[in-house]
Amino acid sequence: MRTTTNKLALPAEPTSAPGGPVGIFELLRAYNSSLETMRLWLDAAGLSEVERIGIADAWQGEMREMFRASGYCFSCNRTLSRCRCAD
Ligand SMILES: [Zn+2]
Repeated sequence: MRTTTNKLALPAEPTSAPGGPVGIFELLRAYNSSLETMRLWLDAAGLSEVERIGIADAWQGEMREMFRASGYCFSCNRTLSRCRCAD
């Protein structure tokens, strides 16, 4: 059997972000919809102030991760390469 090595045989995908490429507008839409859901849930849950803050904090952390995973900064909404936030 003869094997040929072809170094130009690269994967066809130019960008391979998990879940496909996501733009800042899609991220902000997801953010707003998630924010509304979380607020409704906080109102309905009858939690203490401390619990609410804890949940809102955890939610914000998840949002920050979602933005970062898509290549955007949560604080300034810029791409990570253009972000100047001290994170
Ligand atoms: Zn930033």
